[in-house]
Amino acid sequence: STSPEQATVVDPELATRLPELREQYAALQARGLSLDLTRGKPSAEQLDLSEPLLSLPGEGNHTSAAGTDVRNYGGLTGLPELREIFAELLGVPVEQLLAQDNASLRLMYDCVVQAMLFGVPGGEPWSATDGPITFLCPVPGYDRHFAICEELGIRMVTVPMTPDGPDAEAVAELVAEDPSVKGIWCVPTYANPDGSVVSEAVARRLVSMPTAAPDFRIFWDNAYAVHHLTEHETKSANAIDLADEAGNPDRVLMFASTSKVTFAGAGVSFLASSPANIAWFSEHLSFRSIGPDKVNQLRHALFFGDAAGVRAHMAKHRAILAPKFAAVTRILAERLGDLGVATWTDPDGGYFVSVDVVPGTASRVVELAGEAGIKLTPAGATFPYGEDPRNANIRLAPSMPPLDEVEVAMDAVATCILLAAAESA
Ligand code: PMP
Repeated sequence: STSPEQATVVDPELATRLPELREQYAALQARGLSLDLTRGKPSAEQLDLSEPLLSLPGEGNHTSAAGTDVRNYGGLTGLPELREIFAELLGVPVEQLLAQDNASLRLMYDCVVQAMLFGVPGGEPWSATDGPITFLCPVPGYDRHFAICEELGIRMVTVPMTPDGPDAEAVAELVAEDPSVKGIWCVPTYANPDGSVVSEAVARRLVSMPTAAPDFRIFWDNAYAVHHLTEHETKSANAIDLADEAGNPDRVLMFASTSKVTFAGAGVSFLASSPANIAWFSEHLSFRSIGPDKVNQLRHALFFGDAAGVRAHMAKHRAILAPKFAAVTRILAERLGDLGVATWTDPDGGYFVSVDVVPGTASRVVELAGEAGIKLTPAGATFPYGEDPRNANIRLAPSMPPLDEVEVAMDAVATCILLAAAESA
């Protein structure tokens, strides 16, 4: 794989190929394609893997392992048998893991809002402090993280991603100096979009670095914890344990969900953290809800059975997804090779391929693709405020279309990358 950090050196010959590339592009447009690589949604074939959920728990089956009637109110922390399965998968004690409703993004949002309104354990409300509240945003990153900050008026400061996660030295320097830095977004496993995995060393640094703000939090969004694309099941660093060992037990809030395990938007979500943070979150949660959807939680627990059941289920996803990712990287390599017009990631898991094109041309590539009927995520989406200062990064999401469409779309994207590069040469 190539690294997006590598400088692109455009082949000087490329400008001479402009007429030929324009012809290629015109032929592409004439095909009248209509393809979409914008969002990391599971395909219908993947959703079919969880079809049995639609008939679970089944009429007459509404009692949890502990004997509670899941049809009724209560059980704020979530169904114990489901929490047990995911506590094992996420490597956290079951008492420190809440199972909640259909979206982990909502748990993240609630944590930030609660921190703003009430403060986190041991801190003042973030909104009551003078001056701005700042979050560090590793880039390229997940647009919805940035959108939460933007909506709540939280200032965003970018830090570069590396193949081992956020640039820990850059992060450590910023948090040491500036007490307004209250948080950092981090997708530790198969990050959206660059697929990187936080190394043990980076995790240790992040949980142990001195912070000017005593109430600094790491939003450890483990959305792709079990979403492997190879037989090697990468284990993410256990940030909660490491933070505890480092004497900062309350620093990490971990999130996960089954959005890309079962049904996107109709799965279950999880929050794991220190006992103090879990008590803090639950306390405020108790005003917001009388309890989560335990019927859906029971259905999920019955469907999976145990942690091994989740792993086996994810292997079926892998069988569908891996050929699509292989097609993306194969076609990019075949078409762009070492022309110096792009670098791209070759992830071992997750939902995205991150491509860096010739600086200044990402928005042109997306425009060219759009005019040829291939929808791509808007250039800049992987940066706060949608502004990529180098106008170079493009996020590709190959999960949704069938394999043959991914192939057609990627060939078209390669043509657009080449044409935009030749135009700019
Ligand atoms: N975090 C990341 C990094 C994601 O990529 C996604 C889905 N695109 C989510 C969170 C959303 O998760 P959920 O459906 O549980 O809200």
